[in-house]
Amino acid sequence: MKIPIILANWKSFKNPDEAKKWLEDITIINKLKPANYHENIILCVPFIDIPVLKETLKQLSQGLNFVLGAQNISLEEEKPETGETTVKMIKDYVFYIILGHSERRTNFNETEEMVNKKIKTCQDNGLKTIVCISNMQQLKSIIREFPSYKDFILYEPISAIGSGKIEDAKVSNEMAKKIKQDLKNTKVLYGGSVNAENVKNIVNKEFIDGVAVGGASLNPQSFWEILEYVGRKS
Ligand code: PEP
Repeated sequence: MKIPIILANWKSFKNPDEAKKWLEDITIINKLKPANYHENIILCVPFIDIPVLKETLKQLSQGLNFVLGAQNISLEEEKPETGETTVKMIKDYVFYIILGHSERRTNFNETEEMVNKKIKTCQDNGLKTIVCISNMQQLKSIIREFPSYKDFILYEPISAIGSGKIEDAKVSNEMAKKIKQDLKNTKVLYGGSVNAENVKNIVNKEFIDGVAVGGASLNPQSFWEILEYVGRKS
């Protein structure tokens, strides 16, 4: 039986103190009633929270296996660019990088070409990528450039993000199937309004390997409830 992958995307929420508190709180919740979820939980957080979380994870014997991820990197590997965070700066801190989230494509004009360049930079530096797509055109651009891409594709229909309602799980499953027809070795995650109530509808679908959780990952209790549901099923 497959054990779904769970990813938290904190977006631009939580300062380092709040991040540390989240980790401490979820550890306490899980000690009282262990969630029986033994897979790595991918925690994609703001850059500023990464060092404190890495340190706190070392100190806590927590029973939940978190691995850290970032949510973006600069286009260039190393270049004088005020305000940017390069892959070289964070590669010793994280395993994963989210790339091409729809909020970045829309609000920061990230093009398919830019996303592809960032994928290449991550691959050259040994980091695993979680590439967000919301349509077939974005998928095709990845396939053209990386025909044997084998990290994660995170399928997030724009209309579902932050809406409180997941996409019809049959539609998401069909999309995941199409993705896997072209990229045979990739894992496909679904994202968009997943919470403890609706996770059961999406997580058991045949072609979906896991879920990304945005809003519902910010509160340790609501995120733990997702882990608890998935742990119970596995
Ligand atoms: C996301 O945008 O990556 C996401 C999962 O958001 P939410 O769960 O808040 O819809």
